Amino acid sequence: MSKRIYMDYNATTPLRPEVREVMLRVMDGPYNASSVHSFGREARGIIEDARENVAALTGAQASQIIFNSGATEGNNTVLQHFAGQRVLASSIEHPSVLGASDSIERIPVTTDGIVNLEALEKLLKKEPAALVSVMLVNNETGAIQPIAEISALAKTHGALVHCDGVQAAGRIPIDINTMRIDFLTLSAHKIGGPQGVGALVLGLCGITPKLLHGGGQEKNTRAGTENVAGIAGFGVAAELVLQDLEHPDKLKKLEHLRNYLELELCKMQEGGQEGGKGEPSNPVFHAANAPRIANTSMFSLPGTRAENLLMALDLEGIAVSNGSACSSGTVKPSHVLQAMGLDEEDASSALRISLGWATKSSDIERFLEVWAKIYNHISNKDEKTNA
Ligand code: PMP
Repeated sequence: MSKRIYMDYNATTPLRPEVREVMLRVMDGPYNASSVHSFGREARGIIEDARENVAALTGAQASQIIFNSGATEGNNTVLQHFAGQRVLASSIEHPSVLGASDSIERIPVTTDGIVNLEALEKLLKKEPAALVSVMLVNNETGAIQPIAEISALAKTHGALVHCDGVQAAGRIPIDINTMRIDFLTLSAHKIGGPQGVGALVLGLCGITPKLLHGGGQEKNTRAGTENVAGIAGFGVAAELVLQDLEHPDKLKKLEHLRNYLELELCKMQEGGQEGGKGEPSNPVFHAANAPRIANTSMFSLPGTRAENLLMALDLEGIAVSNGSACSSGTVKPSHVLQAMGLDEEDASSALRISLGWATKSSDIERFLEVWAKIYNHISNKDEKTNA
């Protein structure tokens, strides 16, 4: 088989070589940052350097960063702190938010997958809420949420703001201060870092939610021996993506590749037969009219099932996702697309392509070549079935 092509960066990103190099070095040390001896002090230094880098990525001070095991933990830490109080969360949040508490009321989104601000205002006016939870970028569609406006509304009505920043980090600038975020959650493996490490970034509201109890790590806010190598890797990854953000040509290149891919997909369908009964019709790009991050394209091909397309691509060595990777394995239509008003059938025909730091234009060409083959195969099969 020809070389495999990875186009599922929103699920997890390949480790950046610079991250790997540092992690391998740190993994060799017997490092417990709570130890008083020289090894322990070295470990402490490594963690504090990483803390500076993660803080810089979010506009925070190092003292506002709490390292943890990833965004699932971060989201649970915040949401469980507010359990029993009224919490408003967007209907397109990740399951680690929506499933973390029983007291969540959902904020609807528009058909473009953007939080409906009028609906949010109505909910806030109805009765007081303790917390509003909205992600900065949706993991399925890539739609960027108007977090500063959401925070302004929340604050006007006395609510604090939690923002899942997992898919935004390194892809758009984040400033916890101007965005007026009280709790921001991050995950290293979405920015070229390792899995199993993340951070909760605290705003200035003075509340420190705590989930894990035990040792006094992270200034008594998150018990458990620190994952020193993971945190070191996270720090390097944060530094690298911040550099990328400062050189917009890299992100522009990614956007160009994504736009080219979408354009070619449309052309291909236009060149084929126009969707008769049972034939796939033109792809429908989700959140296409919303501000989107540069790397993501999610589209439905009405009349097909995403898992069949995904498997056909996989057989050719191309890795994409159908909806949220976190819920793949169970073939459920995407709750995000359903919240955007799609029916079950269209929501079940959605594929997500997400690009990243190692994506090359030759990968896109290969994808298009394979896609043409798969599309012709589906069309011919349907023709025979209809005959
Ligand atoms: N939030 C979002 C938006 C995500 O995409 C993910 C990962 N799919 C998570 C939270 C969970 O992150 P982690 O893997 O670090 O637990």
